[in-house]
Amino acid sequence: MKSEPHKIKTVRNLNITTYYERSVILREAFYNTFNIHSNKVTYDLVSQGSSAKSQDQEAGSLIGDETYAGSRNFEKLQGMVNKTFGHQYVCPTHNLQGAIKLIVATMVTKGAVIPSNSSFPELLIKDFGGKSDLIEKGHDKKYKGNIKLDALSVLLSENNNVPFIYFDLYVDGYKPVSMQFLKEAHVLASTYQVPVVVNVSQSVEWAGYVRDNDAEYSGRLLSEIVKEMASFCEVMVLDAAQDPRCNVGGLIGSNNFALYERYMNEVVVYEGLHTYGGMAGRTMELFARGIDEMVYEPQAGWIKGQIELLSAKVEAPHYVGADGIYLKAYKILPHIKSEQANALAAMLYLKAGMRCLVQGIYDDYSVLPVQLPRLGFTNDQIDFLARAINEVYSERDKLTHFVLLNMPQWIDQAQYNWNNPTLSLFNYECEAYRIYTIEYIGVTTKEERQSICKEVGYNTFLLPSKDVGIDLLTDSGTCAQTTIQWSKYNEGDETPASSKDYFEMVDMLKEVTGYNYIIPTHQGRAAEHIMSQILIKDGFVPGNMYFTTTKLHQEMAGGTFVDVICDEAHDPQSDFIWKGNIDIKKIETILDEHGEGSIPYISFEFSVNLAGGQPVSMDNVREVYLFCKAHNIPVMFDATRAVENAYMIKKKDERYHHVPIKDILRELFSYGDGCTVSSKKDYLVNIGGFLGIREDQDFYEKALSMIRIYEGTRTTGGMSAGDMSMHAEGVREMLDFNYIMARVEQTQYLGNRLLDAGIPIVEPIGTHAVFIDAKRFLPHIDQDKYPAQSLASELYIESGIRAMERGNVSSGRNRITGENYRPCLELVRLTIPRRAYTKSHMDLVADSIIELYKRRDEIKGLEFVYEPENLRFFQGKFEHVD
Ligand SMILES: *Cc1c(COP(=O)(O)O)cnc(C)c1O
Repeated sequence: MKSEPHKIKTVRNLNITTYYERSVILREAFYNTFNIHSNKVTYDLVSQGSSAKSQDQEAGSLIGDETYAGSRNFEKLQGMVNKTFGHQYVCPTHNLQGAIKLIVATMVTKGAVIPSNSSFPELLIKDFGGKSDLIEKGHDKKYKGNIKLDALSVLLSENNNVPFIYFDLYVDGYKPVSMQFLKEAHVLASTYQVPVVVNVSQSVEWAGYVRDNDAEYSGRLLSEIVKEMASFCEVMVLDAAQDPRCNVGGLIGSNNFALYERYMNEVVVYEGLHTYGGMAGRTMELFARGIDEMVYEPQAGWIKGQIELLSAKVEAPHYVGADGIYLKAYKILPHIKSEQANALAAMLYLKAGMRCLVQGIYDDYSVLPVQLPRLGFTNDQIDFLARAINEVYSERDKLTHFVLLNMPQWIDQAQYNWNNPTLSLFNYECEAYRIYTIEYIGVTTKEERQSICKEVGYNTFLLPSKDVGIDLLTDSGTCAQTTIQWSKYNEGDETPASSKDYFEMVDMLKEVTGYNYIIPTHQGRAAEHIMSQILIKDGFVPGNMYFTTTKLHQEMAGGTFVDVICDEAHDPQSDFIWKGNIDIKKIETILDEHGEGSIPYISFEFSVNLAGGQPVSMDNVREVYLFCKAHNIPVMFDATRAVENAYMIKKKDERYHHVPIKDILRELFSYGDGCTVSSKKDYLVNIGGFLGIREDQDFYEKALSMIRIYEGTRTTGGMSAGDMSMHAEGVREMLDFNYIMARVEQTQYLGNRLLDAGIPIVEPIGTHAVFIDAKRFLPHIDQDKYPAQSLASELYIESGIRAMERGNVSSGRNRITGENYRPCLELVRLTIPRRAYTKSHMDLVADSIIELYKRRDEIKGLEFVYEPENLRFFQGKFEHVD
């Protein structure tokens, strides 16, 4: 899998700290990373409970059957355990410790011995009067978790108080056992009628390891390997916070009713009733869904691939484990002799805000786990982590002193002092968020896509989204939300009257625009409708290229749209950087021809969509405004992409390099009298829009009357309170430089990869989309054979990517002559949703297009087999022609 089999659904902002802050925080934490508050940690590198969920799994948290007995969620959990592990009886517990405690409490008596390959349950067993016996390790290089079975056999024959045997599938996170070992241990134990208890919390990673290392299992499905493994466990314990990717939860599974009966009768003492066991109903629902998803091959493959990526990039000596890499601190810091793991952890935090942890009773640990939360990071971020580790490795000699100050019983109590090494500064330059939930994307084979594409008549609008991998159809309403936005959504105080959320959204937007009046609308087009109806009677409305809905509303109100964008905008090969600019001479021409008073307002769009996401310069905005003031013409912005435009001004105009995005926006808005906005773009919401008016109270009153008629009440405009609250937060987030830089630079990255490969695209690369020039890509296909349509459909077949045709098909036919319009620009638009895709996705897109370009001669044109009269691009169907 070249890119994630999912896209990002929600994100959690990262906490970014300075080197100085980190050094103070470390001192306050006594150089023990356990003590650092999570809001001061950038990367929490622990795998337990920290993985990203799927949206389907997360949705389970809203359908908890919170009852004391016989919850539906429990039945579902039982069903999933049965399906995945083949175990019929399930005893729920609050987590893994709860599961092991219950087994120990019901089975261990004084003097009992529990043979084991792991010290994990040791203390619990001791508490119940037994002891665990760590059997000597075998010497299998691949399977370091195996123990000597003949030693186990001796123990079983000599001791008649062995209530069970305990195995971890992955001892200490990086020492796996083999299937053969489990099988033989099972046979051996059954001859003594001793049950084997296995911790299967990392069974998917384990199955992947077995598949790679054991010829007998190569080519087998993970689900088959997991099920076979479970058949060798009399009893299994499962941590919901590992492979099932929950925050908390656990269970015991078995096919042995007699054992189950003991757990079931005892569970109420420690955990809760036998049908919830200390878990909320919703936790059981999340758990059940997580078990169902964990053996999904592409997902498991991605998780494994990220660990391999980290391992490949880290130069410091390490083991590769189930959930990350395990740094050999004793080799990295041999010169400090003791406390090497915690010393290394402190250095990694100081370097880059990473938190790695060792846990358990106090010991002089010398291996440091660097665990990756499953699905939580992008490959870019893993690169970043590897660089940080490598830098610490190369600066390891700077740490000369790391000493224990107290006598801790547990490692989390340990306090240290150190020599305060001065590490080189580390640059932070990847996404400023981590992945909180994901959404699975369509995974199909090329053969499947061929037949799907044929079926929908080579029209990407007609593709079912479930069969689409990377969806670049639009960036409208498709952005990933932050966890803060979601919590604001939940707090929305729904009312058709005046909600707090209305005022929050309005206040936030007043501050950003500097305008006196803000009216929420359900989308941008609703605001356009109102503005056009109030301000236009007749006359000419100049604009820097048209946007479909904007122009439609101007014409419905009686106006005539006139394109006044600079000439460079129409030339796909011109490299002028402000292609969105208005040519003032073109406005003068209208005034000359039709007189003063013939222009109701100027419609001025930022980062012009139809021109390819091309920005306007600050000077142009100011000059247009001054010109219009002199002629008494209001300037109305389509400020839908104002933030992307502001970013380009900051980047390309040296006078603004050091001006915050917020101030650039405020200046832009100051050169206008009002705006319409579709908030589904730069304002980071899935639905919403607004109308802004600088000071014209009469306009405002009229607009409110129309709102009441067309949209909703004057304090909702048809938006829910939750959506308004989310919007307020979206506005706060869009001003963050790290966010907008990552957003625009992702588009630039994709464009530059294509340019480097010689692919013809519209230049300069825009802010939100890359446009492939299909005329130059497929010069052998006449425009009436729809080269852009053909290219878009081939791209889907090549790799499941959905793009949009913007060319001859979209333009339609001249009604009188019946001929196609054959527009200058014959483009395929790749529009990038905000925060939803990663650099790996962009690489896949670029690689696929490059692949197509190599075999472009084989690509054929299309002809209509079904052609609707209006807006034919939505429903039209095609067939190949030679
Ligand atoms: C999307 C968009 C609109 C229309 O807004 P909706 O919210 O889809 O109604 C108007 N102008 C521009 C520049 C847009 O990108």
